[in-house]
This record gives sequence, structure tokens and C-alpha cells, in this order.
Amino acid sequence: MAVRTAAPADSGEPSLTATTQVFSFSRAVPAKRDYYEVLGVERTAPAPDIKRAYRKAAMQWHPDRNPGNPEAEERFKEAAEAFEVLSDDNKRRLYDQYGHEGPSRAGFSGFQGTDEIFSRFSDLFGDLFGNLGFGGRRDGPQRGGDLKTRVVIPFAEAVSGVERELTVQRREACDDCNGSGAAPGTRPQTCSQCGGHGQVIHRQGFFTIQTTCPRCQGQGSMITSPCKTCSGTGAVQREATLKVNIPAGVDDGQTLRIPGRGMAGVKGGPPGNLYVEVAVQPDERFQRDEYDVHSKVTISMVQAALGCTVKAATLSGDIDLELEAGTQPNHVITRKGKGVPVIGGRGFGDHHIHVEVTVPTKLSGDQEDLLRELAELGGESVAEPKKGFFSSLRRRKRGC
Ligand SMILES: [Zn+2]
Ligand SMILES: [Zn+2]
Repeated sequence: MAVRTAAPADSGEPSLTATTQVFSFSRAVPAKRDYYEVLGVERTAPAPDIKRAYRKAAMQWHPDRNPGNPEAEERFKEAAEAFEVLSDDNKRRLYDQYGHEGPSRAGFSGFQGTDEIFSRFSDLFGDLFGNLGFGGRRDGPQRGGDLKTRVVIPFAEAVSGVERELTVQRREACDDCNGSGAAPGTRPQTCSQCGGHGQVIHRQGFFTIQTTCPRCQGQGSMITSPCKTCSGTGAVQREATLKVNIPAGVDDGQTLRIPGRGMAGVKGGPPGNLYVEVAVQPDERFQRDEYDVHSKVTISMVQAALGCTVKAATLSGDIDLELEAGTQPNHVITRKGKGVPVIGGRGFGDHHIHVEVTVPTKLSGDQEDLLRELAELGGESVAEPKKGFFSSLRRRKRGC
């Protein structure tokens, strides 16, 4: 076994003379850990032990299982770097002889990112993570799935905007099996038919045909005792509570797209989006038309003729509305900029108040007398008193 020594002084490397440079250098690049220590193996460990140790470390620090954890990502890279060196006879010999500087002389300078690691060791990851339960391609970052939900809000909250807590069902990695789908204490077994490749090769005459392994369905591994919690799928549905700002001016049937609030991404992929469909409960006082809103006030013909002050509902509460003498039926009062706010804060629609004038259907004797007097003053022709009409009708029915 070669003894590790320091790099020879005449290595040909440019020497660092300025003290400040040395300090900044040593701070920027923290001391690398010993590769054997990283994988937790003896210096004399044979290749299969190193592979096994690496798989264990990669499993533990895999970005799928440690989303948003930069320390885990560093550990994941560190383990991959250790494995890259110790699994290669030449690099391992250089490392044993010269330490970390050895492999870098052979042109190896570590991995830039996790993507590079996945593509470098895709055959290893294929059977390691084939059963994580996320589906799809396993060899690169994947965007998280979209979430869709629906919320019902009162009319007033659609106008004012509101913050709501929404409960959504999300698919997340199962805690009990760390997303592997294998019962705790067990692990997926490499498929015996394809040896973990997920593909099998048939020979047919002169041709070789490669097909998806029928035993493991291309996963490369099989779960012999499935995790009870997730039935071997590696994922569970879980409730998550999300705070959502519903903007002022939202209308019934609109869908809000909230970027990045869907399911977590896989392997550093971006998260999916949250789509919230908004249902607005109607308010019998208001009719909405885009950003304009319509309402009505009802007054009697006498109020219309003489003018009056009435209570009118507005989006900001009731107001006293003054109506001039001689207000006509279906008169519309438009209150500029008092409608629904335009989403995104660009002004407001208008509020239109429609005046409805009612004509009395039942009059007391005194009221009828006053109206007849009014008609006479204006020289208007009006029907004969009802009494006479009904009595003559009765007379006719009796056949007199
Ligand atoms: Zn499970
Ligand atoms: Zn197989």
C-alpha cells in the first residue's frame, strides 16, 4: 500500500506569493475531506465495498429527499467525487500517492452540479431510484406538478381582495420508507432478470432486440416487501395549507395562477404552479359587468315628482342619495370610479345606480281623492272611480 505524501515542491505549479491571496484562497475552498472518510470505508476497501458505500451515501443525500437543503447537495457532490476517484484504479493510485492533488493532475476537478453526477452515474441511479414514485424520466431535473384548487368567496371580498388559507392535497415522498417504497429495514432488490439495467436483450436470428424488462417494468429493481404506509409507491398524498392572496377585482370563474406554489420539483427542478379557481357568491344588491357594477334604488312616483333622499347600497357601504324633483323612471346615476378595482391596480370601474319608480296599486280613499284633485288641476283625463266600474260589472253579471 502506497503511503500518501505531500506533493513534491517542484510541481511546476505557480507559487502563491502574496499573503492575502493565500488567505482568500483557503477561505474560498474549504479543506477537502479524505475520500475514504467521505464514503466511510477502509483504505484497503475493495471496489464492490466502495460502490456499496457510495450508493448508501447517494441515497442519503439525494436531492429528491433533501429538497432545498444545500448541505445535503454538497454531501451528495462530495460522495460522487470520492466515488469517481476511488472507483477508478488510476485515479485512486494518484490519490493514495498525492492526496487531492493527484486526481486533479489526471484532469479530474470534481463535479459542477448534480446534473453532471446523474448523467455520469445514470446506470447506478437507474436501479437506485427507479421506485421513488415520481415517474417520468429519471435523468435530469424535473419540474414539480401543478396543483389545482377552488375557492368560494363572498362578493365583498372579490371587490376588496382577501388573503385565504387553502388546503390542498399534495403528493410527497413517503416518510416511512424515505420514498423508496420498500418497507423500513429492507431495500429494493436488483431485478434478477435484467441485472438492474431495466432493459433485456433478445437475440432473434442476426438481430438483437432490446426491450423493457418484463419483470421489473424497466425499473431495474423490485420491491420484495412493500412499505405499508405507501403501498410500495414511495409517495403519499398529504394535506398542505397554503396562504393565497386573492387580488381585489377578481371575478367569478377566473383562475389565478400562482407560480411556484405547486408541488416541489425533483432533482433541483423548479416547483409547479398553483391554480386557484375563484367562485364568487352573488350579492343580490349588485350586478357586476366587467369592472362596472349596477344597483338600483326604488322610489315612489311622489318621491320622484317631489325629489327625495334615499339610502343606496354602494361597494363601500350605504350612502344617502339625493334625487332631484322630477326624477324619471330608469334614470341612471353614474358614480365614476366607484366600481370594482381593476386587477393589477389600474383604476376602477363605475357604479351605476338605476332609479326604479313605483306606481301605487292600492290607494286609500284619501289618497285617491288627492290624486283625482291633482289630475283635475292638470287637466288630465283619468278613469272613472273603481267603485262605479265594479258595481256596474256586478250589475251586468246578475243580468239586470
Ligand atoms: Zn413508504
Ligand atoms: Zn428487470
